Amino acid sequence: MKNTGKRIGIISNRRRQSQEICRQLKQKLKQNHFILNDNNPDIVISIGGDGMLLSAFHKYEEQLDKVRFVGVHTGHLGFYTDYRDFELDKLINNLKLDTGAKVSYPILNVKIFHGNNEICIKRALNEATIKRSGRTMVADVIINQVHFERFRGDGISVSTPTGSTAYNKSLGGAVLHPTIEALQIAEVASLNNRVFRTLGSSIIVPKKDKIEIVPTWNDRHAISIDNQNFMINNISKIEFQIDQHKINFLATPSHTSFWNRVKDAFIGEVEE
Ligand code: NAP
Ligand code: MN
Repeated sequence: MKNTGKRIGIISNRRRQSQEICRQLKQKLKQNHFILNDNNPDIVISIGGDGMLLSAFHKYEEQLDKVRFVGVHTGHLGFYTDYRDFELDKLINNLKLDTGAKVSYPILNVKIFHGNNEICIKRALNEATIKRSGRTMVADVIINQVHFERFRGDGISVSTPTGSTAYNKSLGGAVLHPTIEALQIAEVASLNNRVFRTLGSSIIVPKKDKIEIVPTWNDRHAISIDNQNFMINNISKIEFQIDQHKINFLATPSHTSFWNRVKDAFIGEVEE
């Protein structure tokens, strides 16, 4: 029989359960005439947790415009995962019915200026966090050319709407619906007393606005981009904006509504 013409890439974590699901999925995809292609896929399936989908995003971040993602969670239902591991047949069926529909969410563009005016550009699906290595971070926060505040504390996180339920939420930030194209700045343990002052609450910045963080001490800082960590010397500035690309997810009947995910993850069933 003719193949479906759809190229599927699969990325899985090393846990035995995920590897087994990966094996079963490959078999089912082949039986249903899909083409397995990790280098140039139309659809990327990640097997594992939300963390695995973050890895899948970074593996294919140069191909965002032509790739659609779908996540299979081997634990509970996640934020970036629409299928549980026992729903492979449902996934295959939805892939067969797929007409190319997608759901797209904003991602974050991070420009790091360091050393001799070197610029390093990164993209984040959840958030980027800057902290100073081992000491109080002191940094100016500039929003759209307005010098907003001088921050002192552990660090600052800038998150996407879909990242708002991750580290941002632990920092006391708000949960943002992903159709709101905005970034959120959240403080990590800011120092607030009679001398030092920051806003104290998180801030939501609209599309096209630029956030700049200028550390006072351009020594060693730790930058976390989703599940990756970098130590960078001589940072002179970091710029944060909504990226011109978006992440696309496969839109199938199984694409869970955002509020259902939030409820499922944080509230659960409440007894009346
Ligand atoms: P991890 O330590 O396994 O992740 C921490 C938890 O965050 C896991 O339960 C993960 O889900 C969940 N998660 C990831 N993205 C999420 C999202 N968009 N909304 C809600 N929950 C989310 O590390 P990881 O799996 O590599 O994930 C990296 C992310 O962890 C970072 O981007 C950061 O947001 C988050 N993190 C949170 C804290 C904190 O809350 N204090 C500290 C460090 C990092 P799975 O179990 O499905 O992977
Ligand atoms: Mn994880």
